[in-house]
Amino acid sequence: MEPKRSNVLFNIPHQYCAGTGCTHGMLTIMLAEIIEELRIRDRAILVGPVGCSEQIINYLDVDAISGPHGRALSLATAIKRCLPDRIVITFQGDGDFASIGIAEAVHTAARGERICAIWVNNGLYAMTGGQMSVTILLDQKTMTTTEGRSRQFDGAPLHASEILASIEGSYFITREAVNSKSNKEKCRASIIKAINLQIDGHGFNVVEVLGTCPTNWHMSPKEAIKRIEQEVMKEYPLGIKKDLSEAKNE
Ligand code: SF4
Repeated sequence: MEPKRSNVLFNIPHQYCAGTGCTHGMLTIMLAEIIEELRIRDRAILVGPVGCSEQIINYLDVDAISGPHGRALSLATAIKRCLPDRIVITFQGDGDFASIGIAEAVHTAARGERICAIWVNNGLYAMTGGQMSVTILLDQKTMTTTEGRSRQFDGAPLHASEILASIEGSYFITREAVNSKSNKEKCRASIIKAINLQIDGHGFNVVEVLGTCPTNWHMSPKEAIKRIEQEVMKEYPLGIKKDLSEAKNE
């Protein structure tokens, strides 16, 4: 077993697909390190979804709960309203956040809830075998788009972060990736910022992360990262979509 990277991590093997280069593991460790660095272990409440991302609640030694599919943000809203001093963070996939849960995401943004959402966009429902989600690219083949996603029959890719940025109540919305050392550092900084904004009483704060699912993409770890860089980033450009804290500083 690998030595433990953070005291917030339980020293148990992860059940993310082993050896595939799945980015969920990297983000799980990153979030554990951030919670330790910000010294919020006793105040953090992690809300999991349904999907591969849900596993994170088993690996971090913080208070945690999972919601029904697509409802993590509603659960997080209730927790934050009942326990306003706690720091509430959801960790979701695109199936949960942007597909089944898009109504929750939109209304959480409209209400400006003081919570953070981290969601991993890998374009499909990974845990159930790789059905298309709203974020897959056009022409991408999945279990339910065997000939590739068609604009006519399946619709165009949904840019959830841009939608949320256009809603008056949202506060900080960004899209990041973990394909390189520098992007990993940017992602880490954005998650820290989203949490610190919540601590300062601001929200809704969202960090989308372009992630890989080498298992359902049927790719090696290297091929999956290359796909993120050559295809996914063209459809989903990285960067901050909205930052009201910067607007106030101008
Ligand atoms: S199915 Fe995909 S997203 Fe889920 S753990 Fe495996 S590689 Fe990661």
